[in-house]
Amino acid sequence: MELIFEKSRPGRTAGSVPASDVPETALETLIPAGLLRDDLDLPELAEVDIVRHYTRLARRNFGVDVGFYPLGSCTMKYNPKVNENAARLDGFTGLHPYAPVAFSQGSLRLLHELAGYLSEICGMDEFTLQPAAGAHGELTGVMIIKKHFEKKGRKRSTILIPDTAHGTNPASVALCGFQVATVRSNAEGGIDVAHLRELMTEDVAGLMLTNPNTLGLFERNIEEVADIVHRRGGLLYCDGANANALVGVTRPGDLGFDIIQLNLHKTFSTPHGCGGPGSGPVGVKRHLAPFLPVPRVVKKGKRYRWSEEFPLSIGRVRAFYGNFGVMVKAYAYIRALGAEGMRRVSENAVLNANYVMARLKPHYRLAYDRVCMHECVFTGERQVQESGVHTTDIAKRLLDYGFHPPTIYFPLIVREAIMIEPTETESKETLDEFCEAMISIAREARENPDLVKSAPLTTPVKRLDDVLAARKPDVCWTLC
Ligand SMILES: *Cc1c(COP(=O)(O)O)cnc(C)c1O
Repeated sequence: MELIFEKSRPGRTAGSVPASDVPETALETLIPAGLLRDDLDLPELAEVDIVRHYTRLARRNFGVDVGFYPLGSCTMKYNPKVNENAARLDGFTGLHPYAPVAFSQGSLRLLHELAGYLSEICGMDEFTLQPAAGAHGELTGVMIIKKHFEKKGRKRSTILIPDTAHGTNPASVALCGFQVATVRSNAEGGIDVAHLRELMTEDVAGLMLTNPNTLGLFERNIEEVADIVHRRGGLLYCDGANANALVGVTRPGDLGFDIIQLNLHKTFSTPHGCGGPGSGPVGVKRHLAPFLPVPRVVKKGKRYRWSEEFPLSIGRVRAFYGNFGVMVKAYAYIRALGAEGMRRVSENAVLNANYVMARLKPHYRLAYDRVCMHECVFTGERQVQESGVHTTDIAKRLLDYGFHPPTIYFPLIVREAIMIEPTETESKETLDEFCEAMISIAREARENPDLVKSAPLTTPVKRLDDVLAARKPDVCWTLC
């Protein structure tokens, strides 16, 4: 496809204005010469060419509104459009962040009630809605851990993280000035409790754990893990990015976690990807509530207001109050589903993942052969051994079948990992079509490995040179 610059023809315009009937004035007399530019080299096109160019580009986009998007660890579920309608209401979008509280009671109430629902769902006592993403929530959570030990007058230098963790976990911990120590996983994909016991000293501030973990497996020893951490005075942090497997069924607070971040854009239904708006609220047990960011919404009688009167707070982590639109969507989603609906979200997410796992098990090797939660992790090792076809080839070939590929090569402890998260919003028919495609690719890998290795064949852009793309990124070329 041609670039818009290549379509440009000198003198062509999208609109023509009537000839001027007033005297001309030289631009230099109005704008300082140093600020004038005549080298912009903008494309010159007719309106219809512009419309067609961008409409064609938009049709090449893949999103959950176009097809199945089983990207593991990302919860690319379908997001009901009614949530968008709610977030777009004039009363919300037109409200200035500095509007007096007398004019913003409705929005404050929404924030206050949303924090309450999230506390109820997670078994926590208080929530801040300020952080703008999961990783930002992690950072906020670790800042709270740091403050907790500062207040106690104890310095602890290390935070423990399992080897299955998402890369943002060690990054958040390091950014706060803690050392990271890695806890090994055991043979069944859970935390190695003996290793944890060995590492959990009085110099350790806590353990950052994802449950279910990034292998899609529930941490069976969670109560023992919590006990080991707490006995040494540590805090248990939950990376709640995988909450889609838990909502309405079990509560991290009841499992022994002291802090959790949620990814509203994942579990609570906001379209995301490509860095789109996110929200990473952080919930804490009562003993950590004084450290939450300010300002906080407080309710007195029937009135809501902002309060900065929390002297132990870690302060602000973001301008204003967070990504408000995402919160409106989460609120609308929770209210529409209710307690019963929330439970069905996770039940169906887990059911769908286990269905895909069972159908694909005869064709791909499972990394850990046990009942999974909301996602399942296969390995392409059998295909590598049998025909030299790698996981990346399988993922590329899926594009030819019209599916977004699963997450690949993560978690890092699984070689040739293929991580599939179908989510609850997909029908059995869609899951079957996807499984048929995966089974068909397994057959192709045996019978015609060169075909799979040269995929994708039907997409606008064929196989890219990954190394060149990383070393010499040419954004224009790769986008078109
Ligand atoms: C997505 C994810 C994160 C990071 O969340 P962002 O909103 O992308 O910053 C952290 N941990 C896990 C397990 C995740 O899946």
